[in-house]
Amino acid sequence: MINKITRLIIVSILSLVALSVIQSTLIKNTYNLKKENFINKAKEAISKIDEYTIGIDSLNIKWKTFLINKLDEYSLNNLTKKGVINELRRITDSINPPYIKAYNEELRKKKLGYNLKFHKVLKNITLVSRGKKDTIFKGKSNPDFKLLGSDFENVKELQVSNSYWHTERSFSREINKKELTVSYELHFESTNYINIDNWELIVFGKMKLILILSLLIFLVVIGVLYHSIKALITQKKNTDIKTDFINNITHELKTPLATLSLATKMLKKEEVKTKPVIIDSVINTIERQNTRLQKLIDQVLNNSLGYHEIKLNKQMMVIDQYINTVLDDFLLSVENNNVRLERCCRINNTIALDKFFVTTALFNILENAVKYGGTKIEVNCSIKNSKSLYISIADNGIGISKKNQELLFDKFYRVATNEIHDVKGLGLGLYYSNQIIKAHGGAIFIESEKGNGTTFIINIPI
Ligand code: ATP
Ligand code: MG
Repeated sequence: MINKITRLIIVSILSLVALSVIQSTLIKNTYNLKKENFINKAKEAISKIDEYTIGIDSLNIKWKTFLINKLDEYSLNNLTKKGVINELRRITDSINPPYIKAYNEELRKKKLGYNLKFHKVLKNITLVSRGKKDTIFKGKSNPDFKLLGSDFENVKELQVSNSYWHTERSFSREINKKELTVSYELHFESTNYINIDNWELIVFGKMKLILILSLLIFLVVIGVLYHSIKALITQKKNTDIKTDFINNITHELKTPLATLSLATKMLKKEEVKTKPVIIDSVINTIERQNTRLQKLIDQVLNNSLGYHEIKLNKQMMVIDQYINTVLDDFLLSVENNNVRLERCCRINNTIALDKFFVTTALFNILENAVKYGGTKIEVNCSIKNSKSLYISIADNGIGISKKNQELLFDKFYRVATNEIHDVKGLGLGLYYSNQIIKAHGGAIFIESEKGNGTTFIINIPI
């Protein structure tokens, strides 16, 4: 059965892990889709601003014309490549403020609902003249050259598009009184980037409902699983305890029944019928076994009472007198002469108790001390805050591990039988003692360690 539960737990945990993997993959896919969708919408919104807005368009024409002019000078060897780039930087720097202003104005009109920035980065300038390529600028081998737009760090996800500008140029110039015609093709490439403040958060915001629902469902599944497994384990424990009880009671009933059957057989024998001495002895045996059976049944019936079913008949008792009488009676009942009892109970206050029940409770605990290996028992009484009586009963027996202490006061609970041999019992003694003390408004505590004896502390309010 425990294997079954373990298997069930393992399968449940594995399923839960699988479920979370699937769930997180689905969430990740949804995130990617939402992200793509969001970025595409942003791209679409700004797609035409740069080229088709009148103010911005004229600024673009301005730097482009300027660049062509500088490339002409380069073709005539009047300017170096670095010179062209420096000139380009100068012109774009000068037109950038009006460019940003015009661009932001256009963005405002779009009412996007988030903060978007745009810029263009130079990638490549190549001239082709008479079939020969001449690279003026190569983006890969240079740090980013921002042409126009606001400053921000580039993120690959927010790369909007590549712009390509191709033009064929031919011009004539008089040099040394000679007309010189120069022609070249210009290939100009740039990359456009956008930046949206906290765009990841915006995308997550769009998935809020899915995320919250997934989390809730997940928590519910874990909760249900946890409770089911817990219920299963409790049920299993209860079944085990009940099975143990049935085994114990069957065992307890067997011996007197076997003796009774033996006694009946004896009485039937002809030679016994004529011997009154033997008959007397057999009858005594029958009586003893009968009493034993009766006690056993009473024990099951009475000791199973809950504390609210116990009807108390309290009377005032002087504490030390009462406890010492109980201990004297207990000593008389102990068959094992090796048991030593040390006591310290000198409190002459009075307390209201049901003598019969409390004596049973104390006897159960004292009997256990002897039953479970104790040879020395120490009993101490004390009063705290003149409100509570504390009786501690300590033995040097086999002790109880912390794990087993939890269920000690449960009905029918006995520490697993392979740990204690040949000790009979129904697992009702401590349950009943606890119920009795509870009925008096008190409580029983236990301090024990396996192999190191046990101390029961009974607290009864005065
Ligand atoms: P009975 O119903 O006859 O008293 P029991 O002694 O087995 O049967 P409880 O008195 O309820 O039942 O005790 C429950 C279990 O607690 C015992 O089976 C024993 O394992 C453990 N136990 C109780 N008292 C002690 C003790 N002083 N030292 C060690 N183990 C103890
Ligand atoms: Mg007992």
